[in-house]
Order: sequence, then C-alpha cells, then structure tokens
Amino acid sequence: MVKRRSIEVYCQCGLLLARYSKGGKGRLVKMFFERILVDESGVFLVQPPPALHDELCCPSCLKRIATVQVIRGKFAAKLNQGAIVQP
Ligand SMILES: [Zn+2]
Repeated sequence: MVKRRSIEVYCQCGLLLARYSKGGKGRLVKMFFERILVDESGVFLVQPPPALHDELCCPSCLKRIATVQVIRGKFAAKLNQGAIVQP
C-alpha cells in the first residue's frame, strides 16, 4: 500500500492550481489526472479532457505549467518545473 498525501500545487504567480494526491517521496514531477483531487484553476479536469501533448497554461499569468503525456499507460500532466511551486 503506497502512502499518499494531499499536496497543493501553485503557479509561480501565486495561483493555486490544484490539490493532488501524491504517492512516494521526492518532488512532484508529474500529476496523474485521476489523482487530481481538486482542480482549483480549472485547467486540468476539463471537458473534453486535454489531449496528448497539449500544453496546459496558468489561467492567471498564461505561463506553461505542464504538458500532457502518457506515463505508465495513464494520462498525466508533466509539470514544467520552472513554472510551479510546491510546498
Ligand atoms: Zn500563473
């Protein structure tokens, strides 16, 4: 059983992007869409869902915060480390 904790992910501009259920140690590199608890910014859990290789941008400062990839068979947002802040 992997231990998971809820973390908050912010854009560098200060906007709260999402609350995410993170497993394991280390810094957040990707966010699997199915484990995004609350999409505070309305960027991730949209309909229709983001497509592969789509770039996700902060609605406030318009910086690219992530790119959509498939990781281990699941859709995930690969985070732009230069654009996000994590506690
Ligand atoms: Zn921003």
